[in-house]
Amino acid sequence: MRVERVDVFVIGGGGTGSDVTAALAGAGMNVAMAEREALGGECANFGCDPSKAMLKAARVAALAREQASSASGWGPSRSTSPP
Ligand SMILES: Cc1cc2nc3c(=O)[nH]c(=O)nc-3n(C[C@H](O)[C@H](O)[C@H](O)COP(=O)(O)OP(=O)(O)OC[C@H]3O[C@@H](n4cnc5c(N)ncnc54)[C@H](O)[C@@H]3O)c2cc1C
Repeated sequence: MRVERVDVFVIGGGGTGSDVTAALAGAGMNVAMAEREALGGECANFGCDPSKAMLKAARVAALAREQASSASGWGPSRSTSPP
């Protein structure tokens, strides 16, 4: 069995683990990182980015519905929230 020696072993490849790994590697250290589920962690895969994309899509759909209903009559469109 081949044994690899590293200076630092980072557990978790979320935003924090990835940043730490990159910073240490950039400083010349021999670094290894392990991720058990999804590289990028919660923010990139389940949290920040996907939730913001869903919110944006819902706002666009609401705006389209609003515009479609106001186009059939006269008068100013009813506005809820900006997209
Ligand atoms: C719906 C939602 C929306 C959000 N929106 C925002 C936002 O707009 N702005 C913002 O700043 N933050 C937001 N957050 C919070 C953000 O996702 C977290 O603050 C961020 O992901 C934390 O990063 P982290 O790298 O510390 O942890 P994580 O992203 O959780 O990464 C930890 C990683 O370690 C791995 N791991 C754990 N144990 C082990 C092990 N034993 N072996 C191997 N791997 C392991 C996990 O699989 C995971 O990938 C949101 C969260 C949610 C749920």
